[in-house]
Amino acid sequence: MNLFDYIRDVPDFPKPGIMFKDITPLLSNPQAFQHAVQQLAAPFLDPLPDVIAAAEARGFLFAAPLALAMQRPLVPLRKPGKLPYSTHSLKYDLEYGSAELHMHVDAVKPGDKVLLIDDVLATGGTMRAAIELIRNAGGEILACGFLMELAFLKGKQLLDGIPSHSVLVVD
Ligand code: AMP
Repeated sequence: MNLFDYIRDVPDFPKPGIMFKDITPLLSNPQAFQHAVQQLAAPFLDPLPDVIAAAEARGFLFAAPLALAMQRPLVPLRKPGKLPYSTHSLKYDLEYGSAELHMHVDAVKPGDKVLLIDDVLATGGTMRAAIELIRNAGGEILACGFLMELAFLKGKQLLDGIPSHSVLVVD
């Protein structure tokens, strides 16, 4: 099964010049979705992480089935104002302006080995922020996993040498 067949390229979304990788065709095909989740999990089965974390929103779609398959806790990293309990937070710069990620204070314990998941690795800015947020809480990043990596954007350079695996790579 070629998973690229289930990714739709949408030009100029959300703004001119961006080729958006639309994963909804993959989500709409249970066989392809299951295959993608299996491929995403495969490199991280031994040793298993203590915790799986993902930034909203599309990262949740892959981290949730992975957490069930691995029988590990799932930690959502969210935008401001979404999490109801006390949070750790981290502000980070975007191309234009800034953004902020939050995580519940009891989500990651010091020493936890965390697997970070997202659908797409683009510039790496979001993952970099997630790494710092978890490290600030005492967590250790075991690895990062992506459904798709846009290698030409060199996002891996922001991952600080952390092992990463992408199911699909676009050069
Ligand atoms: P990044 O530039 O790596 O911080 O990407 C930010 C977030 O936007 C990632 O979590 C991706 O889900 C999403 N993203 C960035 N570029 C694309 C793209 N071309 N297609 C789909 N999603 C994208």
